[in-house]
Amino acid sequence: MHTYDRIGNYLNAFLHLLYPQICFGCGTDQLDTCKPLCNDCIQDLPYTEFFSIQNHPVEKIFWGRVDIEAAGALLFFTKDSLVQDLITQLKYHHNKKVGILLGQLIGSAIVSAPKFELIDVLIPIPLRSSKINSRGFNQSHVIALGIQSVCHRPIDSVSLRKRRWTSTQTLKSRSDRLEFVQDVFVLNNAAQIKGKNILLIDDVLTTGATLEAAAHCLMKGHPASISIAVAAYTL
Ligand SMILES: [Zn+2]
Repeated sequence: MHTYDRIGNYLNAFLHLLYPQICFGCGTDQLDTCKPLCNDCIQDLPYTEFFSIQNHPVEKIFWGRVDIEAAGALLFFTKDSLVQDLITQLKYHHNKKVGILLGQLIGSAIVSAPKFELIDVLIPIPLRSSKINSRGFNQSHVIALGIQSVCHRPIDSVSLRKRRWTSTQTLKSRSDRLEFVQDVFVLNNAAQIKGKNILLIDDVLTTGATLEAAAHCLMKGHPASISIAVAAYTL
C-alpha cells in the first residue's frame, strides 16, 4: 500500500471515531460513507415498483389532466416512517446524500424500464429564485443529480422557472390555490425543449397539482413527450 493511502486510511478511521457515520434506519455504523442508509435498510425501503408497471395510481393521478407519457414513484410515503425521515433530511436539513441516493435508486429503476428508455433530458421542479438564494439548495435538483449518475442524461435547470410570487399560504381558499398553481411556472427557453423527451423530477407527489402545472407550462415549448419521476408518493 502506498504511504499516502495508508495515511488516508488512518485519517478516515480517526475521523470515523470522532464523527461516526450512522445509518438513519437502524443506527449501524457499518455503511458506505457516501450513503445515508446501510445496504439492509436500502433493501427494505417500501418500493412501489411503479416504474416497471402500467396504469398504476401515480399514472392515474394525471389521467384527464395532462398528457403524461409515463410516470413513477420510487417509494410509498407514510407518516412516521423512514421515508418521511429521509424526505425531512433532504428538504429541511439539506442532506445531499439522501437526494443522491434517492436519485440513484430512481435511475436504477428507470434504466431497465422500457417506457422510460427514450428520455433525453432531466428537468427538476424549480424553486423560486428567492428561495434558492436563501437556502442554496433545490432538493429536486439533487435527486436529478443522482438519476444522472446512473442514466447519464443532461439536466436542464434553465428552461422551467418558478415565478417570484407570494406564498400559497396567503391564498385562503382551495380554488384560489388551484388557480395560483396553474400560473406558477414560466417557460424560459422554448427552443431548448422542442422535440425532446423530458423527465420531470420532484421529491414528493401528493395531489399532483405542481407537476401538472409544470407539465402544462413545458408543453408550450412542444416537447416530444413528458414523463414524471418522484422519490415518494403519499398514500
Ligand atoms: Zn440501516
